[in-house]
Amino acid sequence: MTKTIALVVAAGCGSRTGGDIPKQYRRLGGKALLAHCLDHLRHPRIDGVRVVIGPGQEALYAGVAADLPPPVMGGAERRDSVRLGLEALATEAPDIVLIHDAARPFLPPVVVDRLLDALADHDGAVPVLGVVDTLARSGTMLGETVARDGLARVQTPQAFRFAAIWEAHQSFTGEATDDAQVARAAGIAVAAVAGDPMLEKLTYEEDFARAEERLAMLQVSRTGLGFDVHALAEGEELWLAGIRVPHEKGLKGHSDADVALHALTDAVLGAIGAGDIGDHFPPSDPQWRGASSDRFLEHARDLVEARGGRIDHVDLTIICEAPRIGPHKAAMRERIAGLLGLPLDRVSLKATTTERLGFAGRGEGIAAQAAATVRVPEDR
Ligand code: MG
Repeated sequence: MTKTIALVVAAGCGSRTGGDIPKQYRRLGGKALLAHCLDHLRHPRIDGVRVVIGPGQEALYAGVAADLPPPVMGGAERRDSVRLGLEALATEAPDIVLIHDAARPFLPPVVVDRLLDALADHDGAVPVLGVVDTLARSGTMLGETVARDGLARVQTPQAFRFAAIWEAHQSFTGEATDDAQVARAAGIAVAAVAGDPMLEKLTYEEDFARAEERLAMLQVSRTGLGFDVHALAEGEELWLAGIRVPHEKGLKGHSDADVALHALTDAVLGAIGAGDIGDHFPPSDPQWRGASSDRFLEHARDLVEARGGRIDHVDLTIICEAPRIGPHKAAMRERIAGLLGLPLDRVSLKATTTERLGFAGRGEGIAAQAAATVRVPEDR
């Protein structure tokens, strides 16, 4: 069995992007860049991940995600950090190490396969991209053109037989911007495999904007449905879609019995396959007695966000004979939009009667149904 460990270099200060936190901790689609990087290293052929962080970044690192591997403390220069990372790995003696930059949040799994396949015949392998633009020397004025034939842009992760790169780093004394240079300086032959534009390193402010667009493209749309009924009773307040509606009866239930917010909450939970409202707020639990249903919906919203997703749209129908919903529609939409953090045009609210048929028609209860559309990161 070959043991393969990914070593993520996340020790930089990222001064070129601006901003007051190192770029590997900047958020992309609600998640730290480093968290994206780690997600993409989940690959059937990678057995574990170690992360090299910068001095003083412990708290930032701890906030990146749950169940992170213990960090390795890095050094002043990138190559110091890599050497310290390799040193930390030396005790577990992996066969192969993939050295990767935290500033490359997207890693197509096929690139990992290409690199590991290449290591069957070589001690090192890196992903490269061709150069399509004309290359020229340039300052404020354009200088001479440089031939681009035979040139490549070198990306990470860079894969090496662990023993070979560890030895190369120990004896290396020069300057290097990546580990392939360190390897080649030690006489290691490094294979070039096809890289991927998705692997682009985020360096400048505009790179982040582009990455946000890329992330949106990688998200898939999911829809959830919700339905709920509560009985109307004397002596209860009527809460509907997050607002108090004056009426001679109110809805009965364990919480505030806001049938509309319950249906909506179930729709949002349904869209991310997170069970139903009863799973999260069991009616048997006394702490939810009389609870405002706002927090149920906010909880569902938070779960979507925790998965790196966002709610695109919700559509709610309230089904009752009385009270009349029309006069309250605007306030209800506004309330829901506020709870979900959505603009009004992404919150739809409708009302209907059942033509005096059934329990709703007889005024015994109110029903609500809802649909929620969310966008979440594509399953990997
Ligand atoms: Mg309910």
